[in-house]
Amino acid sequence: MHPEATVVRLGHRQQRDKRITSHLGLTARALGAQHFVLCGDEDQNVLDTLGDVTENFGGNFNSEHQPKPMKWLKRFAKDGGQIIHLTMYGEPYDVVVPEIPRDSPIAIVVGGAKVPSEIYKIANFNVAVGHQPHSEVAALALFMAEYMGGVAGSEHFSGAKLEIKPHPSGKVVIDHTEDSDSS
Ligand code: SAM
Repeated sequence: MHPEATVVRLGHRQQRDKRITSHLGLTARALGAQHFVLCGDEDQNVLDTLGDVTENFGGNFNSEHQPKPMKWLKRFAKDGGQIIHLTMYGEPYDVVVPEIPRDSPIAIVVGGAKVPSEIYKIANFNVAVGHQPHSEVAALALFMAEYMGGVAGSEHFSGAKLEIKPHPSGKVVIDHTEDSDSS
C-alpha cells in the first residue's frame, strides 16, 4: 500500500491547456493517485472527463477545482502531508524518491505557465525528472512510476464497468455491465 497521493495542477488555462490538463489528470489516476486538484481556470470539462473515465474504468479517484492553491497546500502541509514539487531545477527523482516518508499523504505539484516562487519554499522536496524542460505529463508519469514502484495500470481498479484484457493483436474489452466480452 502507498500513502494517499494527490496531484495538484497549477495555473490551468481553459483554452490553451484543456487537453494537457486532462491528460495530466488521467495519468494521475492511471498511475495510482486518488485525488486531482485543478488550480487556475475553473474548467468543468476537465473535471467531467476525469469523472467519466473513473465511472467507466473504476477506481477510487476524485477531482476538484481549488481557486487558492497556496492556501490548499499550506493546509495540506499543516495536516502532515508531504509536498513534492516537480521542477527541472530540483534534485534527481531517483535520488529523492527513497527519501520521501511513506507514512504521510503526498501532494505532487506540477506547474503551468507561471509557478509562484513560494512553492519552492513550502515544498518538502523539489524534484527534477532530468534537468531539461519537457512536459508536465512526462514528469508526472516518470515520477509516479518510480514512487509507486511500477505502473499501477496493471492493477485492478475496483468497480470498473469496462476492463481491458491484454491481447497481442486486437482490442478486447470486458464490459461488466453486460458480463460478456467484446472486441
Ligand atoms: N512555462 C511553460 C509554459 O509555457 O507554459 C510551462 C513549463 S513546464 C511544461 C510545466 C511543468 O512541467 C513544470 O512546472 C514542471 O512541473 C513540469 N516539468 C517540466 N520539465 C520538468 C523536468 N525536467 N523535471 C520535473 N518537472 C518538469
